[in-house]
Amino acid sequence: MSLTNAGGLPECRILAIETSCDETAAAVVADGRHILSNRVASQIELHRRFGGVYPEVASRQHVLAIQTVVEDALADASVAHVRELDAIAVTHGPGLAGSLLVGVNLAKGLAFASGLPLVPVNHLEGHVYSNWLYADSSSVSDSPGPGESNGSAGGSASDSARRQGSGSASEQFPALILIVSGGHTELVLMEGHCRYRLLGATLDDAAGEAFDKVARLLELGYPGGPAIQAAAESGDASRFHLPRPLTRPGRRTERQPDAQASSLPTILPVRGEHRFNFSFSGLKTAVLNLMRQLEREGTEVRQTQTAADIAAAFQMAVVDVLVGKTADAAAEFGVKQVCICGGVSANGLLRRAAERHFARIGLPLHCPPLFLCTDNAAMIGAAAYYRRSFLQSRQHASMGQRHGQDGEAVAQSTPHDRPIEPSGRDFLDLDVYASLPLVDSMQR
Ligand code: ADP
Ligand code: MG
Repeated sequence: MSLTNAGGLPECRILAIETSCDETAAAVVADGRHILSNRVASQIELHRRFGGVYPEVASRQHVLAIQTVVEDALADASVAHVRELDAIAVTHGPGLAGSLLVGVNLAKGLAFASGLPLVPVNHLEGHVYSNWLYADSSSVSDSPGPGESNGSAGGSASDSARRQGSGSASEQFPALILIVSGGHTELVLMEGHCRYRLLGATLDDAAGEAFDKVARLLELGYPGGPAIQAAAESGDASRFHLPRPLTRPGRRTERQPDAQASSLPTILPVRGEHRFNFSFSGLKTAVLNLMRQLEREGTEVRQTQTAADIAAAFQMAVVDVLVGKTADAAAEFGVKQVCICGGVSANGLLRRAAERHFARIGLPLHCPPLFLCTDNAAMIGAAAYYRRSFLQSRQHASMGQRHGQDGEAVAQSTPHDRPIEPSGRDFLDLDVYASLPLVDSMQR
């Protein structure tokens, strides 16, 4: 392991902890980009029988798993003692209160005992920075969860999954970020590290939530995203037409002959204030109404080819909307790169459709490798590194301003100066409903 980075600065290694929902995760990340270890204990098997995350069960399972997961992450990264590291990062929101509490309290305890600074991380900012991690991750391991080793989206975190995805976005700003997870669907303009403007968000259900609910209606299994994707593989997306909410017909591209692989949107966003907003609850209702109509006509839906066809039509509708609005925002704001992140970014059709569109117009597109799409701690370590640097440079700038006024030297900021950010371990509270820390909201 190198002790200095490319800039000749001492390597900055952060232990990151993530327990916002149903994954108990810990990782060690160097310089915000290199994954030295990444452990995820998934609770999918525990929650499967409830068809969704059962919050109290989740927090209890975090309590049982967290110590082993952190110890394993440290051992994988050859860290003998926490004191060898530079900081401890933890997700403090948004998320389930009981789940967040487990990670936050452990992180506070470790910071207090070791004297290391504590960096609170917004979970959504974590997803954003999953695209800044280098995809090569030989040290990535799965901590066995109860009953199953790993529940990462799109299958397990197998070697082949680890190799997928480009990862590593560049320093090209502005960048357009599409966050699509179980709890959030947001289009964000990233003007620099840690500087965001919200362009639009879902008005009701998140995209992942819609996948989960429709999978439940079709009795395809849990979690819904991978189940819909698997069913859609043998489905005919053109048998049923489902609505594309908050869009209008457009002529951006012709649909490709291979309907499953293409899904280049023939739609454009609605005009006006909802141009970059999303709405998925009506789409879910449309699926329900379609199922009722088919059943009234005597067509068996569940466990049949019809379920696969509906899954394919639903997936196509969601992808059309996501890619259509992302493409439109990218053109409007003249961005230099596009990043997609969050659990739904594991969706194969979404990745292929976005890749095809942005390759055609020559705009770099980044999607995390599959094992970094759903919740993990490596992304929290990456976000912590950039946020810490951002806060430090702001701190130095304001110090410099004061010194400059006194005629003294203006302080230079480096990412490795101490003391770090003002929000130290004494100040760390949960922020269950946190949204991405915005420069300014810009709803259109
Ligand atoms: P959150 O941060 O909201 O807790 P994650 O970022 O872990 O959630 O994403 C979980 C969501 O991603 C779930 O709604 C799940 O159905 C969805 N998801 C996972 N894999 C896929 C996939 N292959 N296709 C579509 N959705 C997926
Ligand atoms: Mg998440």
